[in-house]
Amino acid sequence: MPLSRRSVEGAGLGGDLCLLQEVVDQLHIPLAVRAGLGELGKHGSLISKEFGSNIHLAAVLTDLPMDVDAPVDIGVEDMCRKCKRCTLDCPAGAISDEKQLVRGEEKWYVDFDRCIPYFVKTDGCAICIQVCPWSIEGRGPSLSERLLSQRGA
Ligand code: SF4
Ligand code: SF4
Repeated sequence: MPLSRRSVEGAGLGGDLCLLQEVVDQLHIPLAVRAGLGELGKHGSLISKEFGSNIHLAAVLTDLPMDVDAPVDIGVEDMCRKCKRCTLDCPAGAISDEKQLVRGEEKWYVDFDRCIPYFVKTDGCAICIQVCPWSIEGRGPSLSERLLSQRGA
C-alpha cells in the first residue's frame, strides 16, 4: 500500500512524524525483520507472509510510544535452504547459495558489487524477486503453513 504523510495522519497518528519513503530498501530490511514484518530471503529482500517478496518498504520515524514487535518465523529459512531459484536465475551471479559471515552473523549474502551494475544497466533487474515462489500473489499464507507443518512431520 502506498504510504504518504496524508495517509499516516489520516490514520489518526499524531506526534512528530518523519516519513522515509522508498529511500533504499536495503536500509529498511534489518528493521523490518526485527519488527516482525517478514524474514530475510536468500535473494537479500524481505519476504512477508501476507505480501510475499515483491514489496517496497517505507519507514515512519515518530516519537509516539508504541509496543515493540518481535521477529517472526514463517518458514523462509526452511524454504531458502532447499530452493535455488534466485541463485540459479540471477544473471550477475550475485546470490550466494550458502550463508556467509556478515559482520559476525551468518546470513544469506548478495554480492552488491555484482548486482548493482547489472541492476543499473537493466533499469531495475529484480529477476530474483520475480522468480521467487513467495512472489506468487496470495501464495504466502499457504506456503508458510505447509513449511511450518513439515517440521513436525
Ligand atoms: S536484482 Fe538481478 S542482478 Fe541483482 S541479485 Fe537480483 S537477479 Fe541478481
Ligand atoms: S527464490 Fe527460493 S531461495 Fe531465493 S529467496 Fe525465494 S524462496 Fe529463497
